[in-house]
Amino acid sequence: MILTVDLGTTSIKLVVFQDTKALYIGQQPIPTYQEDGISYQRADDWWKAFSDTLAALQKEAPQLLASIDTLCSTGQMQDCLLVDQQGNPISEVLLYSDGRAKEQFQWIMDRYGKKDLQAATGNQPDALLSVAKYLWLKEHRADQFNQDHRLILGAKDFINLRLTGKSYTDYTNASTTGFLDSRTNQWNRRLLACLELDEFRLPRLAEATDVLGVVKDATADELGLPRGTRVINGSGDVGASTMGAGAFHFGDVYCYLGTTGWLACPSLEPAKTPEIYTLSQIDGKSHILAGAVLNAGKLLEWFLTNIGMEKQVNSQIYAQYENQAEAIAPGCHGLLFLPFLEGERSPIKVDRNRGCFINLGTDSNRWQLYRAILEGVGFSLKHNLDTMLNGKKLAKLNLIGGGSRSRLWPQILADILDAEVHVLDMDVGAPSLGAALIGLKAVGKVDDFSELAHCFTAAKHYVPVSERVSTYKAAYKDYRQHVDALCERLAGNESDEGGG
Ligand code: ADP
Repeated sequence: MILTVDLGTTSIKLVVFQDTKALYIGQQPIPTYQEDGISYQRADDWWKAFSDTLAALQKEAPQLLASIDTLCSTGQMQDCLLVDQQGNPISEVLLYSDGRAKEQFQWIMDRYGKKDLQAATGNQPDALLSVAKYLWLKEHRADQFNQDHRLILGAKDFINLRLTGKSYTDYTNASTTGFLDSRTNQWNRRLLACLELDEFRLPRLAEATDVLGVVKDATADELGLPRGTRVINGSGDVGASTMGAGAFHFGDVYCYLGTTGWLACPSLEPAKTPEIYTLSQIDGKSHILAGAVLNAGKLLEWFLTNIGMEKQVNSQIYAQYENQAEAIAPGCHGLLFLPFLEGERSPIKVDRNRGCFINLGTDSNRWQLYRAILEGVGFSLKHNLDTMLNGKKLAKLNLIGGGSRSRLWPQILADILDAEVHVLDMDVGAPSLGAALIGLKAVGKVDDFSELAHCFTAAKHYVPVSERVSTYKAAYKDYRQHVDALCERLAGNESDEGGG
């Protein structure tokens, strides 16, 4: 049996798998501390949530716990945490979304060069990179930094270190940190030398399917895990989700439509344009292209709570709004929504709140506005998809995440993207399933991921309807005009600000 651990931003999820079948799911929330662009967690909270969830498993299904022989984790990426020689945390965990390292980022740009960092990482560098956060810790947590510390760059790497005593990370996570030279697949030595940082403090690099070792006996006894349980390196959540969404082959595209969202596909080549992120594939030998959207299901929650004034947002409320919105003609009679309430990451970079409804009239009602939001997010996903595929036509999109529970949203996506949308039949979530598949390959139960294609059955298919496809083509043109105008305005503001 394989135990998977998904250490996400909001919770930790443990699943016991017999091959690809989930037999037990346990979950615990994880607190995040936020203020003024700062966003951090505590690794002690991670460990407590992990051991509490295991304790619940021991209580509820001891025979399952006793039959675990392999553990494979996944989780949030691009973290920055200092631990001591024993793996005890000595700093807070700066999360991927933590924006405190702007000055340090600027210093890296001045010292190493933006172009050089972009060439090394394959992505447009920004202040969210772990390398900038590490320098922040050097400056602001000097006592801890000056200890003989080790640097942890991904949530699951902390769990693996505590279990095995070995500090490793995977290529997918490493490619988001700023430390990896994606051209050589090694830590970027020139960058480390230039910033006066020690390579030996970084985790070692390994493929997601590499076996790191077994759980230390004392730790196994303390947690109730069987002695000798193998620990697999695993992958950061984008890598595991890509496997867990059945996107094994180059060009297989899937969309995660959750609170935020992303579109991603495995690729032989890095992205052709810097608007799309290039991450390393889980074996470090090819790539995963990703367009990340900050504005997805969260907008529905915002609308239902603040405009709909709903006291609770639950499946009945979603169904009620959806039934009403379904009756409105596609294109919402010209009502258009730009979904950038939280700024945006790709394909356009917006660093402030810029959401808006366009063409509101006195006949606009909340159902129309709701539909316009569903469509606006659809347009933003199309913008990402077109940029990512660079002119290639998409035949089919696998859809996962909370938004796929909607009846209407996947159909709107099929019509906007002019592609079949398959909502995957999934009870555990793509990262956990992906971690299980990585575990199965790691222990030799399968030679190739494509042998696991049978796990991916679509619960529902949505087929584009030609009439609606052409309506949305016109509406998308309109959307792009407004988005392009917004980008021009933002660029103008930036140069105004830059010019003082
Ligand atoms: P997360 O992204 O936080 O890990 P989920 O994948 O469960 O979590 O996605 C949560 C999002 O799914 C919420 O923002 C919510 O708006 C959206 N969602 C849930 N049910 C529906 C529904 N029936 N229709 C549309 N969106 C939904």
